[in-house]
Amino acid sequence: MQNLLELTQPTLAKFFEHIGEKPASVKMRAKQTLKWLHQSQVSDFAEMTDIAKATRETLAQHAEIRDLTAIRDSTASDGTRKWLFDVGTSAVDAVFIPEDDRGTLCVSSQAGCALDCAFCSTGKQGFNRNLSTAEIIGQLRYADRALKADMGIVGRTPDGVQPVTNVVMMGMGEPLANIDAVVPALELMLDDNAYGLSRRRVTVSTSGMVPQIDELSQRCPVALAVSLHATNDALRDVLVPINKRYPIKELLAACNRYLDHAPRDFITFEYVMLDGVNDQLEHADQLIKIARQVPSKLNLIPFNPFPNSEFKKSPRDQILAFQRRLSDAGIVTTIRKTRGDDIDAACGQLAGQIKDRTRRTQHIAIAIKTAPSTGAY
Ligand code: SAH
Ligand code: SF4
Repeated sequence: MQNLLELTQPTLAKFFEHIGEKPASVKMRAKQTLKWLHQSQVSDFAEMTDIAKATRETLAQHAEIRDLTAIRDSTASDGTRKWLFDVGTSAVDAVFIPEDDRGTLCVSSQAGCALDCAFCSTGKQGFNRNLSTAEIIGQLRYADRALKADMGIVGRTPDGVQPVTNVVMMGMGEPLANIDAVVPALELMLDDNAYGLSRRRVTVSTSGMVPQIDELSQRCPVALAVSLHATNDALRDVLVPINKRYPIKELLAACNRYLDHAPRDFITFEYVMLDGVNDQLEHADQLIKIARQVPSKLNLIPFNPFPNSEFKKSPRDQILAFQRRLSDAGIVTTIRKTRGDDIDAACGQLAGQIKDRTRRTQHIAIAIKTAPSTGAY
């Protein structure tokens, strides 16, 4: 059975051809079906009323609409809402963050993650499996439908009410390690017959997989956020181990190449603030040098602690002093607001599900002590 949520406009057209639809009408059928699936959000072929009954019956023989199942649905006091989805052997989360002028959905791309960043609870769980396109876009379909239901809206609205205006791929997993499933999901987010989001409002966050950054620039350039977190290779090798394969210099070059194709004229650098590790003013000075090499904005992320993590949150004053140093140098620097603390809603933070890898703890503590705080940048 083909899950229709897996398909984009061109692959849906091919599917219609495959099940015997006339070549002249497959494009039209694909567009109609996308609208039913992602705008009216139906779950039953019988509801697709502008598609001939015979075609709907053929569809029902060959295809299904398989949605995600939410095993937890929690709303924080600040309105942040988090769903935990069952994906068989484990669970992934999606988080909706409402703000005055936008609604951002944070989406997962993998169950677990193989890249093993030292401060990340998803990394500590290890890698389980890649999500399929249907499971990635399914998070948006599910959230959109649930949020609209709360507003008393079913399906498409004539006045175009859209609770989700932005998507960030900052949930569990490394999106560029699953690029073949992520790109079709991005295409559906952008397709006017599906979610119709602007390229500037869809962001892929990567720990820095250089060849895949180039690939994304060719296949589906959307806004790019890069998890920098350290200002020299010795420290970044420890915090973000993929740095051993693609060191900072190569990463910055890839960022500049990406900007030739990007919908925005800057890269967002994410920088998690770890007490005593990467949050000193000398690090800010190095960061200024890096930020001057790539048109960029900086987003400082207060570390979100989790059980058995070996790091501490930087004190608020330190984060503010760090920000001031960067801002004074003319670098646009924001501090990420922590949202939904009471439901543990930080993207990818699945408390209680962490399979601890404490054996690494000692090793990391030693590596950080020996890593120089200043470096080539
Ligand atoms: N794998 C991608 C996207 C998912 S993680 C990436 O690494 O960019 C989304 C962001 O959350 C990344 O910047 C990541 O470094 C950061 N992050 C991970 N664990 C965190 C924690 N415990 N506290 C704060 N930020 C964290
Ligand atoms: Fe994976 Fe991103 Fe976590 Fe690193 S920070 S382990 S790349 S999810």
